[in-house]
Amino acid sequence: MTGRFDGYGVVVTGSARGIGEATARRFAAEGAGVLIADLDGVAASRTAAAIRADGGRAEAVRCDVAERASVDAAVTRAVDVFGTLDVLVNNAYSCGDHHEDFALETEEEWAHDLDVTLTGAMRCSRAALPHLKNAPRRRGAIVNIGSVNGLSYFGNHSYSAAKAGLVSLTRTLAVHAARDGVRVNLVAPGTIRTPAWKGREATLARAAAVYPLGRVGEPADIAAAVAFLASRDASWITGITLPVEGGILPSN
Ligand code: NDP
Repeated sequence: MTGRFDGYGVVVTGSARGIGEATARRFAAEGAGVLIADLDGVAASRTAAAIRADGGRAEAVRCDVAERASVDAAVTRAVDVFGTLDVLVNNAYSCGDHHEDFALETEEEWAHDLDVTLTGAMRCSRAALPHLKNAPRRRGAIVNIGSVNGLSYFGNHSYSAAKAGLVSLTRTLAVHAARDGVRVNLVAPGTIRTPAWKGREATLARAAAVYPLGRVGEPADIAAAVAFLASRDASWITGITLPVEGGILPSN
């Protein structure tokens, strides 16, 4: 059976666990070679080994999206290993301890959250674009992972600001990259059951009751949307924000 991403090289940032891992697994299951690029190099190696054990193609690299040299090295590694870079998923993020309390959040925490979540996506996109535009048959794509927090008010500050910025970056970069046949889109998840929620199971249970579809999301729900936007099925879609949020946004 042929997969939608046979022969593709894919980089997913922050993919040692959670949504990033599910997304990397989805691409690998559909034929791509995936680079697990994560701040935690040991966990990244573990995830890549697990994907290989399942028959997929995966490599790991320790990567901090806040460091340009680290990002450049990850992109170079993907091209070296897979021979092509076709898809970049900007999934890594930072959410400082006080992002929910405007009075307590320091300027340093604010700056770090924006540097990782928003500027990190710009940094990775800038490093990847020269390769994405050389992808065969104009199949290059970037998918940014935003959040419903960037689309509505959910009580966060630096995190929401960074995610709202990603919506704008998605639009402006989509126009810039279109001339090279590269598409740029964003998936905005609602609450997703990932290790980021560890120890807050009661909060997740309460959230499930609020979602019109009666549950919180699973990482695979987001991976499916990312794979669609990166695939040729979405070849005339660029610059959009796709909420994947169980009906929670006020517009629904
Ligand atoms: P997790 O916290 O479970 O996983 C994030 C991964 O990113 C971790 O492995 C983390 O490594 C890594 N990471 C952190 N900082 C960096 C960095 N500077 N460079 C590279 N990797 C880094 O997150 P989720 O899977 O829950 O979230 C993934 C994405 O989905 C994020 O963009 C998030 O904002 C978004 N999202 C998630 C929602 C949810 O409810 N889970 C809701 C809406 C959006 P380490 O463990 O070392 O920190």
